[in-house]
Amino acid sequence: MAKRNFSSKRNAIYNAVCSTDTHPSARWVYETLKPSIPDLSLGTVYRNIALFKDEGKIRVICNINGEERIDGVTSPHSHCVCTCCNSVTDVDDNAQNSDDYPAPAKLGFTVKSRDIIYYGICAKCSERLPH
Ligand SMILES: [Zn+2]
Ligand SMILES: [Zn+2]
Repeated sequence: MAKRNFSSKRNAIYNAVCSTDTHPSARWVYETLKPSIPDLSLGTVYRNIALFKDEGKIRVICNINGEERIDGVTSPHSHCVCTCCNSVTDVDDNAQNSDDYPAPAKLGFTVKSRDIIYYGICAKCSERLPH
């Protein structure tokens, strides 16, 4: 029975990561699941997330304030990271052919995928900030 319990926790953790597009931290996953899984520990969440990473089921996008932000979407896509509210948002800006990569092409480099992070201020924070 213990094994079954382990795998249901594992599924719950994976589903929590995939249920949001906010690119959560392990702590967020823990706090989200804790009410429904009272014996869940933060260590279990970290351990499972490390396993999912190794298995290629999730990606680590960036590290904000010492916390890894993870993504259940593993296909290449770019991200906008707001340095004000720490939001991580998907951007679908992946170029289609080598003409879109003049700088790497100059090195004779053929780009297969790219993983870009734009750092800045999101629209919501821009509204809030004094101009
Ligand atoms: Zn923001
Ligand atoms: Zn993403």
